[in-house]
Amino acid sequence: MSPATQTSSESEFNDVEIVCVDCGKKFVWTSGEQVFFRDKGLKNPPKRCKPCKKAKTERLEAILAAQALGVKQKVEVAVNCSKCGTYTTVPFYPSQGRPVYCRSCYIAMNPDILKPGLRGS
Ligand SMILES: [Zn+2]
Ligand SMILES: [Zn+2]
Repeated sequence: MSPATQTSSESEFNDVEIVCVDCGKKFVWTSGEQVFFRDKGLKNPPKRCKPCKKAKTERLEAILAAQALGVKQKVEVAVNCSKCGTYTTVPFYPSQGRPVYCRSCYIAMNPDILKPGLRGS
């Protein structure tokens, strides 16, 4: 009358601690989730904790949805003008180290863009 030694398939898994690539915090990849991964045929362990994974999925979905609609995502980045210090917004992500100017400073430095003579020909 020995107890059945039929292995339950879940006993081969142990909880694993993984460091999230996004936030650097440790999270537990539970044996239950490992079974789920195996059942799905996934070979690689997760790289992100749940909140980061969710955030990433939402970012991707937002981008894909925008692309599907043919909508260009409108960007508005708050900056301070490198010349006069005025708070302004620009429709692009300024690269690091690059000066960003407010509209009036930009025009002051590029007066040509306002010259009517350049329009048409
Ligand atoms: Zn994370
Ligand atoms: Zn300025």
